[in-house]
Amino acid sequence: MAISRRSFLIGAGSIGVGAAAVGGYLLSRDGKILFDDKTYAMPITTDYTLPEQVDVAVIGGGLAGIITALELAQKGISVAVFEKGKVAAEQSSRAFGWVSSAGDLGPTLALSHQSKDFWHKINQRIEADTSYRMIGSTTFLLTDEQIAEQEQWIKQAKQEADIDAKIITGAKLKERLGGPTATDWKAAIYQETDGGLEPPIAGPTLAEYARSIGVKIYQDCAVRGIETSGGKVSAVVTEKGTVLCDAAVVAGGMWSRRFLGNLDISIPQLGLFSSVQSVKADKPGPLGVGSAGNAAWRQQVDGEYSVSYVSPMSPIVPDSFKLFPEFFGTLLDYFDTVDLDLSNDFIKTAQMATSWDNDEMTPFEKLRVFNIRADERKLEESVRHMEEEFQNMAGAKVTKKWGGYIDATPDSVPIIDEVDAIPGLFICTGFSGHGLAMIPAASKLTADLIAGDQPMVDPSHYALARFSA
Ligand SMILES: Cc1cc2nc3c(=O)[nH]c(=O)nc-3n(C[C@H](O)[C@H](O)[C@H](O)COP(=O)(O)OP(=O)(O)OC[C@H]3O[C@@H](n4cnc5c(N)ncnc54)[C@H](O)[C@@H]3O)c2cc1C
Repeated sequence: MAISRRSFLIGAGSIGVGAAAVGGYLLSRDGKILFDDKTYAMPITTDYTLPEQVDVAVIGGGLAGIITALELAQKGISVAVFEKGKVAAEQSSRAFGWVSSAGDLGPTLALSHQSKDFWHKINQRIEADTSYRMIGSTTFLLTDEQIAEQEQWIKQAKQEADIDAKIITGAKLKERLGGPTATDWKAAIYQETDGGLEPPIAGPTLAEYARSIGVKIYQDCAVRGIETSGGKVSAVVTEKGTVLCDAAVVAGGMWSRRFLGNLDISIPQLGLFSSVQSVKADKPGPLGVGSAGNAAWRQQVDGEYSVSYVSPMSPIVPDSFKLFPEFFGTLLDYFDTVDLDLSNDFIKTAQMATSWDNDEMTPFEKLRVFNIRADERKLEESVRHMEEEFQNMAGAKVTKKWGGYIDATPDSVPIIDEVDAIPGLFICTGFSGHGLAMIPAASKLTADLIAGDQPMVDPSHYALARFSA
């Protein structure tokens, strides 16, 4: 069984939190997390009257846009976030909920490690419950080869950051397994400082906090394009009017490539499809977030488990052909973990406009929230695997299933940069299935670049120019 260098969905812990801790308005009386079936994310208050001018306009109200806005506002910069649908209703609410630095090295470790401090302190900082819990991550290991591979990662990662990952055996291993298992696991890699969160809650809670400190958030308000003056960004054009600004940040998740393409800026970004489900078991299973073979889980705050599989699927769409040279290396790297699928998405994305004028309706207004069916077969396999492996989970009932698109770059490293050709236009996108873990530091970096402040991580790793080289 091969454990990929960095799986798209994985990271690994204990919950011990009562459902009430997430704030009564989100939970049903029996402690179940409430989802909105259309948007998945907790609804937030929206602003309506567009401002004439702001310092910075943020395009996209996912976690990247919201945390960037929050960081800018804390610097005293005026910000408005424009979201074509609902805040955090795409990737940011459909995620599995791992917040982990497992397997990261170099540019991704720099961001996921720095982001931990944000998550560990956030509930206190904003005096609200984002649902983040430091519940630790565990990946169970069966062979000496797997243990050696993880020891090698720990050694390399410790040269770069003060990580707390270690190999566990014996009583600690037994505790993390949470009960009897089918497999006689030899060891596990464990990181106590990793954690998990409820995606439908975290983004909207941060958005409400951002509003409370002055950020304006406009929902159902797509940005069609930008205007420039003397070559520099001077405004964003939304479907509801034009807002003057000194800088704009493209934090559009999987739509970033389409938005920037209309400005003749090409970013390599492909969608990977993944599915997650919530299951309810009578007895508690493994602790925290983790993976065992092909199944991955996260203990939810309401006592259920999020369960998924390790490999995402890459639908073959028109961009797959255009971007083949850029993604070829990645697909080889992840050959055993990424499935390829020629699906309906080909037709859907082929029909979407790739260029438009700012006075025309755009794809962003035509598709407010990208809803994707869950992959029933893979989800069934993963829940069966959990039931067989973790005997306390036998008879677990599926309570919810959902799918989502992951925006991936060829090197799985996000793009955080100012566009050379258009000063004032910044990009913060391409989190490659790892955004919950990396976005706090990535957004801080984006805000520092905009404000001209000393960044805490080296920005050159995230430059767009790395792809042309
Ligand atoms: C199934 C699944 C499981 C995942 N599991 C994990 C995990 O366990 N751990 C982890 O770290 N990461 C995970 N991820 C990845 C993580 O969810 C993403 O990396 C992260 O949410 C990306 O945030 P974002 O703000 O960049 O994008 P998004 O959340 O997609 O937000 C982008 C927003 O921009 C808006 N937008 C786009 N264009 C425009 C426009 N022109 N005008 C206005 N608005 C616009 C969109 O409507 C969208 O709301 C998972 C993702 C999926 C899909």
